[in-house]
Amino acid sequence: MPEIEEQERGTTHEPVLAGYQGQPGSFGARAAARCGRPVAFPTFERMLRALLAGEIACAVLPAVNRVEGPILESLDALARSLAQPESRVTIGAEIEVPVRLVLAAPPGLALEDVREVHSQAAALRQCRDLLARLDAIPIETHDTAYAAFRVKEAGGARAAVCSEEAALEAGLLILEEDVSDVRPNATRFWRLDRAAEPESLAPRVVFYAGVRASSALAEAEAELLSLPGTPAEPVRGFAVVPEKSVARAAAGTARLAAGERVRWLGPAPEFVRPPRMKEIPKVTEVREPSVVAVGPFVVGGGRRAVIAGPCAVESPEQILRLARAVARAGATALRGGVFKPRTSPYSFQGHGLDALGWLKEAGDAVGLPIVTEVMAPAQVGPVGARADVLQIGARNCQNYDLLKEAGASGRPVFLKRGFGTTVEEWLSSAEYLLDAGCKNVILCERGIRTFEKATRGTLDLGGLLVARSLTHLPLFADPSHAAGRRDLVPGLARAAWGAGVDGLMIEVHDAPESALSDGPQALLPEDLEELLDEFGILPGASGSVERIRRAIDGVDSDIARLAARRLDLARLVGAVKKSSGRPIRDEAREASVRARFAEALGEDSLGATRLADALIDLALEAERRGDPPTD
Ligand code: PEP
Ligand code: MN
Repeated sequence: MPEIEEQERGTTHEPVLAGYQGQPGSFGARAAARCGRPVAFPTFERMLRALLAGEIACAVLPAVNRVEGPILESLDALARSLAQPESRVTIGAEIEVPVRLVLAAPPGLALEDVREVHSQAAALRQCRDLLARLDAIPIETHDTAYAAFRVKEAGGARAAVCSEEAALEAGLLILEEDVSDVRPNATRFWRLDRAAEPESLAPRVVFYAGVRASSALAEAEAELLSLPGTPAEPVRGFAVVPEKSVARAAAGTARLAAGERVRWLGPAPEFVRPPRMKEIPKVTEVREPSVVAVGPFVVGGGRRAVIAGPCAVESPEQILRLARAVARAGATALRGGVFKPRTSPYSFQGHGLDALGWLKEAGDAVGLPIVTEVMAPAQVGPVGARADVLQIGARNCQNYDLLKEAGASGRPVFLKRGFGTTVEEWLSSAEYLLDAGCKNVILCERGIRTFEKATRGTLDLGGLLVARSLTHLPLFADPSHAAGRRDLVPGLARAAWGAGVDGLMIEVHDAPESALSDGPQALLPEDLEELLDEFGILPGASGSVERIRRAIDGVDSDIARLAARRLDLARLVGAVKKSSGRPIRDEAREASVRARFAEALGEDSLGATRLADALIDLALEAERRGDPPTD
């Protein structure tokens, strides 16, 4: 069968060769491994020549480091290579590599005896604090991994700044960890290709020469990586142009003075990034995550929230009680069905527009926007007049007339996935909403129908993650309808939260036995509180000291558990230090622990230092005593 032959050929084909400057074990090698089989080159010039000659398929070049800024040696080599008329290098991707540098020396050399520190120029510039503290002489080598080998060979009072792997590889002992001035440190590499077709995610990188070009790019909010000038081009460098200002950057650099130039190394300005799926262009557009905000309810782009409330609005009193309960738990939107899609025509169908009034009053009373389902195009007008968010239920996911009507209503739409709908079909339904002009769409996975009957639906987390990779829209999960059983809801909620959903929709009732619909799957208000506390969601204002104390209790038990784990780890590291002859105390390490707390609690916070010091003291005590772990 031809398909199988194709696959077999695929498995035997040669991997692409990806060049880097340096030695195995260097950060460049790590970046290259993300593009193909790494091939080492002693200099950037040789690497670029090999790329242009077609000896390697691509090459990685360190462009910017968090501490150091632009990396002049490599950018300058690229600029010089671009000056050759036949050079057709393009930039196809940006790869960020975390940079953890250590100070390492041959066994026997103590930190205070180090006189020379060997490393690559750029790495040495990232460790100014260390060099000042040691009062050692920096010696440049052409890459960090080579520095480790040199130091091992030469011996004496020499140490190297390199990666931990390079140090271990060369047989050095680590004297100090994480020695860069800024932690965490990282370097952005560019993948260089030979005049390839632009990929949809390639960065918009420009080479520029000239004052006007540089100021036009700066005005377009590009990130300028300027290089030292040459007599011919006193002002020059590279610029990374954010997607939103590509048109501005192109217009600003369209007419330049004599001798000035710009050259787009990533996709040209007129290149429009194709959507991830051709047939679903608006939903799968390559852009920053969409944020949906309705009053206190904000989701997408890192903001997460919970919509909670009863399955159905049953009475003015019921919805007001539950509105207060979910607001106090920390939910920022109130749900409640007024038109209920029921399997049996004899089941409760919802209290209709009367219930919408009760829902609205309850939402207003606690300051939460309301979410309710529309089942028919004719309901969109009257419901949209009062509801803040229109829900389209699983049964109507592919009701295209309803999608068109709801999409044109001017209200945000919360679209559930149908239980027999593929991810692609679900996204196509969302496309109807965007195409009808809807600016705020939220997608919600609520369990699909599978052979499994033990749960009401099967919460498709894999499908949810596939959707995440395809769309910029906020994604929710509804563990209540997926489970159909109260006891399974917290576990599914945690799984979805852990998978990175932008939010959850959860059904809640305070008298589930007498609920008019979906009682068996409703969480009790106190269960909701506990769950939202676990997710770190702040309780809503309710004036209850007891409620807030419950949240604090949860935090305390987490802290206590983490403190015990921290002590276990301290004992472990103590044992490793003893067996490798390293001292127990490491002041630089202690400083980085304090810095981490200061970052989280605020630079000026006295509490940050006190907390960090308390933990460090406890850890040192545990390391010295070498107690066995707690369990
Ligand atoms: C609901 O949210 O109450 C509901 C009916 O959900 P679904 O459409 O997911 O069944
Ligand atoms: Mn329900």
